[in-house]
This record gives sequence, C-alpha cells and structure tokens, in this order.
Amino acid sequence: MTGRFRPDTMLRGMVFGMSFAVGLTFGAGPGMAQSTETGTGTGTGTGASESIQTDAPAPAQAQDPAPEAAEPSVVAAGGDATSAVVFMYHRFGEDEYPSTNIRLEQFKEHIAELTSGGYSVLGLPQIVRALESGEGLPDRAIGITIDDAYRSVYEQAWPIFRANNMPFTVFVSTEQLDEGVSNYMTWDMVRELVKDGVTIGGHSQHHSHLPAIDIEAVKAELAHSAERFKEELGFVPELFAYPYGEANADVIKAVKEAGYKASFGQQSGAMSTESDFTYLPRFALNEHYGAMDRFKLAANSLPLRVSDVTPGDYTLTRNPPAFGFTLKDPAPDIACYPSDGDATMTRLGDERVEIRLDGPVASGRWRINCTTMGPQSRWRWFGMLYTVP
Ligand SMILES: [Zn+2]
Repeated sequence: MTGRFRPDTMLRGMVFGMSFAVGLTFGAGPGMAQSTETGTGTGTGTGASESIQTDAPAPAQAQDPAPEAAEPSVVAAGGDATSAVVFMYHRFGEDEYPSTNIRLEQFKEHIAELTSGGYSVLGLPQIVRALESGEGLPDRAIGITIDDAYRSVYEQAWPIFRANNMPFTVFVSTEQLDEGVSNYMTWDMVRELVKDGVTIGGHSQHHSHLPAIDIEAVKAELAHSAERFKEELGFVPELFAYPYGEANADVIKAVKEAGYKASFGQQSGAMSTESDFTYLPRFALNEHYGAMDRFKLAANSLPLRVSDVTPGDYTLTRNPPAFGFTLKDPAPDIACYPSDGDATMTRLGDERVEIRLDGPVASGRWRINCTTMGPQSRWRWFGMLYTVP
C-alpha cells in the first residue's frame, strides 16, 4: 500500500457512483484518523491508518449560539441528540513521537475550537450513561480520552483542560506505573488527577495485544490491573480501552466479565445509542491527523447507522476480509476507504454494501471508513478496525 489515490480503484469505485481513496493520506479533506499506539508491547505494525476522502468540501462549522464560554463542561446532559464524538490523545508536546503525539500548538487550537461555542464537552461516564439509557445529549457532545498515562498528560494537558473546565478520561495500563517508567505518570500524579475529578479507565496490565495472548492471560491481566487500581486509587474503573484498539469476541467477553461497563476501540466514528458498547469508536488525534480541518470535521460528525456488519468479530479469521454492512438510512453517495488493499464496492439494492479486496491485507490492524454527507453538511461516519493476525 503506497500512494494516495489509485486511479484503478477510483475507476472501479466510480462505476458505483463513488470514489475510493486507498492508503495513507494526510491533511486535506474529511479527514482521517490514524492511530499508532505505542506502549510496551511489540507492535504488530504501525500501519494503522485511515484514508481520507480528498475531494469533499470542508464541513460547515457549528452555528449554534455560543453557550457561556467559560463553562463548557458544566452543560448538563439531556437533549435530543443520540450521538457523541469521543477523541483519543496519547502524548502532548512530545514531538519525537509524532504518531502518538499532539503538538502543543495543535492541542491549543483544539481547545479553542471546543470552547468557541456549539460544543458540550462532557465527562465520558456521563456520555456513556446518557446514550446507553437513551436519555439523550446536547447536540455536538464531545468526550475526551487519553491513553497510556504518559507524564505529558500531567505536565502539559491537565493544566490546560483544568483551566478550561474540561473533563477527560485517562486509560491506564498499570504495569508502566508500577515499574516507575520515567515518561509515565506516577500513582501519586494519578491520585492528584482523580482528586481533581479526572476519570480513570482500565487499559490492561501490560498494554498487551490482547487478541494475541491466551484468554487466561487476558483474564489475569484484567484481574491484576483491577487489584492495582483498588490498592492505589481505592476503586476499580468502569470504562476500558483496548490497547491498540485490538479485540476479539473472547477478549470482549473477558472485559465485560471483569466488570467494565463500556469499552472503547480505536475505530473512527461517532458513538450513538445504537453503538456496540463493548467496542465504542473514537477519533484518534496525533500530529499527522490533528489538523483543524480534520478536527472540526470529526467533532461535527454524526453516526452512519448500519447493521449486520461482517466480519462480526473484530479480529479477522479470514484474509482478505469480506466486509459488508446494511445501511439503516439512505446513503446513495456513500464512499468507503480501506487502510490497505485495492477495494471494490458493490451495492445490493439501496441498503446492502459489500466490499471486496483483491488480496490479503497486511497483518497488524486494518481499518475501513465509510462516510456520507448528512444534514447541516455534517458527515455521517462508520469506521471499523480489524486486528489482522
Ligand atoms: Zn494504549
């Protein structure tokens, strides 16, 4: 997978009235998320990428009247919206790690956008509760998550979030803190955050590639990290993020049985009342995918409602995957963008979309994003991330 746009794929896509972009693209257009998690595990490749539609117009910006700008986070839940957008950061101002870092000037632009009016930055537990219960949320509800508990969260991000009264959640792999790895927070720092109202979530013990290890080892990681949270913080978190966004049916079951109420992957898209709460989407933000056009596009995105997604497991048992889904809303102009592989899309009637690849995709993680223009020039978005053995 190289190039930004493959004419042959484009041509095939065009047959069905849509275009495909394949491979890594940067910058322009209805942006994409790319997320390459680091951590202590040995990565199964850094190719986690999403492609972006390069030919679409920039989305309209929020036009709602500005709420009290000083208190963006105290907006009560409740409202008619049935979706929310959750962002994922890792490092702040650690420019030597561009795939997991956000530069401070980019981060400050994000904060400026979120405080510009039109958004409600809410705590993740509140968002999960509201959508799971069907209670509803304000339009453009935003959740902020940070994975891995790097030291720069404490030193760089927290003061800025605090100054803007913005809630956020940190997903912590306990072993890095237990070992006192120098660029991670200490437990003392995490306790300070908790005291200040920051939500802590689980992220396994060793930051393992969970689908790649024995299920008993997965359970042991979950049990050990729960014990450490209890000892250090006095509670066990209720939210979980799969390291690298990698999961399969057994891992999901184990996480659920460990008591987690909701769990997040790293696939792009807006979460909604209809989401799978054991594998919720997030938009990754890093240096490559942290530009303002993409940030605004993601922050304003809406769910693309689908059902009967295949493959049903989040780890591929067959490669190339036979990817397909059924649209719940009309989407005549839907376009899909795989991170790897030459794809052909077939529409079966108005509702069913089937995508086939001309060969196996690379091991690691395979993403596919499907978008269509929704109301108010806001993109409807459905993304999937599959772990590829
Ligand atoms: Zn992580």
